[in-house]
Amino acid sequence: MGSPFVNQTGATPAGAAPAAAAASAVIRVEDAHKYYELGETRVHALRGVSLEIQRGEFVAIMGASGSGKSTFMNMLGCLDRISSGRYFLEGIDVSSHDKKALAFIRNEKIGFVFQGFNLLARTTALENTELPTLYTKIDKIERRRRASEALAMVGLADRSQHLPSHMSGGQQQRVAVARALVNRPSILLADEPTGNLDSRTSVEIMEIFQDLNDKGLTIVLVTHEHDIAEFAKRVLVFRDGKIRKDDPVLNRPRATEVLKTLPRLED
Ligand code: ADP
Ligand code: MG
Repeated sequence: MGSPFVNQTGATPAGAAPAAAAASAVIRVEDAHKYYELGETRVHALRGVSLEIQRGEFVAIMGASGSGKSTFMNMLGCLDRISSGRYFLEGIDVSSHDKKALAFIRNEKIGFVFQGFNLLARTTALENTELPTLYTKIDKIERRRRASEALAMVGLADRSQHLPSHMSGGQQQRVAVARALVNRPSILLADEPTGNLDSRTSVEIMEIFQDLNDKGLTIVLVTHEHDIAEFAKRVLVFRDGKIRKDDPVLNRPRATEVLKTLPRLED
C-alpha cells in the first residue's frame, strides 16, 4: 500500500522497543552545534538547534543568508557532520557515523534537489534519473523501470530520451526531482530548488512537491520566498544559527489552484 516512492520501512531496528514519539520521527536533532574552522577564526554556524520532523511533514526553512540553513540541510542530508549534539535519522544516531557510513545511509534514505539542477549534460533524462541506482544492488531491468516510473511521477514520461540542453529549466529541475526519488528515499531535501526558476515554473515544482507529500513523502525545503514557503505545512525561520520561529502554515494554498491564476508563458 502507499506510494512506491515512499520508503515505508519503520524506523525501529529489529528487537528494539518502539518509543512512541521517537519511532515516528523521521528526523530528531538534539542541541546541534556546527563550527567551521577557517585558519585562526572559527565560525559558529549552528548554535544549539533542536527539533523533530515526523513522517509526512512538509517543512520550509527560511532565514537570511548566512543564518545556517545550508549547514543544517547538509547535516540532515548526511553530507556533513555536526561538531556537537545528536542527529537521529529514522531512529538511528548518525551523528557518530564516519564518512563511509554516512555515504551509505545518504544513498539509501536521502533524496537531494539543489538550486542548480546538476544534471549530466550528454546524458538523457532517463539516464540522469537512473544514476543513483548504480550504487545499489538493484538489477538493470529494475533500475530502468524505477527510473521510468520516477520520470512519470514528475510528468516527464514523454521526455525520457531528451538531453538536458533540449529541456527548459523547469523540466531539468523535474528530472533532478525524479533522480532524487529513484532510490525511494525517506526524505526529500531541497535547498532553494526554485532559486533559478521563474514564478510559474516555481509553482509547478511546488505542485509536484505537494503531490509527493500527499503520497506520504517527508520534505524539507529551503527557500528565500514567502510565497514558496506557504506551500509547505510548517515554516522554520533561522537566524544566527538558531531556529527563531517554528509555525504551522494556516490555509496553505494548493499549487494546482494557484497555477490556474498564473499566465502561461509561450515557449
Ligand atoms: P545559509 O545557507 O543560511 O546562507 P550557511 O549555512 O551557508 O547559511 O552559512 C552559515 C555560516 O557558516 C555563515 O557564516 C557562512 O559563512 C559559514 N559557512 C558555511 N559554510 C562554510 C564552510 N564550508 N567553511 C567556512 N564557513 C562556512
Ligand atoms: Mg544556503
